[in-house]
Amino acid sequence: MNFDVEQFKSQFPLFAQTANQSLVYLDNAATTQKPQCVIDAITHFYLHQNGNAQRASHRLARAATDMVTHTRQLASEFLGANNADEVVFTSGATEAINLVSYGLANLCSVGDEIVLLASEHHANLLPWQRLAEQKQCELVFLPADETGRSDFSRWSDVINECTRIVSISVASNVLGEVIDFTILAQIKQRFPSVIIVLDASQIACHIPLQAVQWQCDFLVCSAHKFYGPTGIGLLYAAPALLEKMSPLHVGGEMVDHVTLQHSTFVDGVQRFEAGTSSLSAIAGLQACLLFWQQQNRPAMQAYEQELVAYLHDQLSIVCSPSTGLQLITSPENNVGIATFISTGNSFSLSDVAYWLDESDIAVRVGQHCAHTLWQSLVPIYGADNGLRISLAAYNTYQDIDRLVAAIDDFLSASLQASSTLSPVPTSVIESTYTNTPLGDDLSHLRWQDLLDAPSWQKRFKVLLQWGNSIQAKPQIREPQYLVKGCESLVWVQHQTVDNKHYFLVDSDANVIKGLSALLLFWFNGKTSEEISKIDIEERYRALGLDKHLSASRMNGFLALLGAVNKYV
Ligand code: PMP
Repeated sequence: MNFDVEQFKSQFPLFAQTANQSLVYLDNAATTQKPQCVIDAITHFYLHQNGNAQRASHRLARAATDMVTHTRQLASEFLGANNADEVVFTSGATEAINLVSYGLANLCSVGDEIVLLASEHHANLLPWQRLAEQKQCELVFLPADETGRSDFSRWSDVINECTRIVSISVASNVLGEVIDFTILAQIKQRFPSVIIVLDASQIACHIPLQAVQWQCDFLVCSAHKFYGPTGIGLLYAAPALLEKMSPLHVGGEMVDHVTLQHSTFVDGVQRFEAGTSSLSAIAGLQACLLFWQQQNRPAMQAYEQELVAYLHDQLSIVCSPSTGLQLITSPENNVGIATFISTGNSFSLSDVAYWLDESDIAVRVGQHCAHTLWQSLVPIYGADNGLRISLAAYNTYQDIDRLVAAIDDFLSASLQASSTLSPVPTSVIESTYTNTPLGDDLSHLRWQDLLDAPSWQKRFKVLLQWGNSIQAKPQIREPQYLVKGCESLVWVQHQTVDNKHYFLVDSDANVIKGLSALLLFWFNGKTSEEISKIDIEERYRALGLDKHLSASRMNGFLALLGAVNKYV
């Protein structure tokens, strides 16, 4: 049976809301949308079942306890565990890895080695760094191949008798590549006492989990990345290890006997669930796990594979040496992630993301909490961040067509902006008697050009063009000049000459440079009194920018305005 994407998508009510009807959501690696049944289950819990679980014997408390017990059973099936005694509820994957790394501290001694991938998400790096510092263990990283990626096939270079723990992401949140699972059995066969931790955050929505079959000792994931609610995560744990671990959190409901000076803890998974869990999230998770049981996983997986191949195919049209965009992912063995970088362009990837957002296409730009991956990619690609597109089963071929068409539009807009540069060359005006730069010369910009632009796309193009008038200023790209609160990086340096204010501004995003040019157009070279009479926000509103630039972008602009106002 073929996968019916329209039927599947119709179960996710966010897409049916009036404001979201043209939304193309391609940020699924960050979080997924929720089906109606999950949303309903959360409401249903509060309407009908809200009592605290595992505490009292009244009807509501019993209903909540039953719900938690049933969800733990469903979770054990979803994880590919043996039974519910191997499932701990956490707040998410991050907490689960912290719980494991903290709990394993008593099993580690000086000189033990912890093997990780250099491409790890910070959630699977920082907890191990802390453990290594506390117990004087060594962190060892799998060697990288010629493309800068960690090469798991070379596991025997680094895993040996000193290895205590191997903790790896099954798929990178930047590159989407899935590891070769057969290696896990090879490691266990050669070194049975090595503890294997799998971060399955990026695969849980795409590949059926098989914790026991993969021969790992721990496996973590967050429900919000597989159509479940935020605030709840799953930890599969081999019971023999769980027994030896200290709990990360201590408090109510995980204790056996408490005196004023000392306490003992209960056995089993409850020992790791101190305090009240997010019960409404567990109710949502229960509905989510039942939802998964109804899906035809092979058909869904086949559809997703076709989609990720199509995504790469189509992106390769806009990612080429002539556009300066380069795809760094491939569709093979990929959970649905495509990432591209930009080199040698006058625009930044934030500009592309802004443009896409204006077309209601959600993607993510940055390092995606994987700084060390980018540290190894920089020497190979010359770029330290990427634009990530991440798929889920409700995405369609049309979503990809819209994405690629919008990137294409952006590229022509940006090409036009640089080819129709105002005739006056960009320059920096200098103080006549101190020779210090006073700011970019913006005298050639015409406010009327912006007012006359008939649509926001045209205005956006003019802004990109204005951005070209702000010169790169490596000398101010210093932490003390960085404006906090901007989505992109913006640096502002201020000086007063003859009671007049001058600002040097630089940014990694052309559209922010354009907005800055607009700001400086009004402010530079004015006295405080003159500036106080200018209602800059009103002028932005006159352009309709407040409606078209999203809240976070406007926040960026307002942060910049705040930084400028601080000096006036
Ligand atoms: N590991 C990986 C690979 C991830 O992609 C993420 C989330 N981006 C996490 C761990 C952390 O997940 P959470 O924020 O839900 O705890």
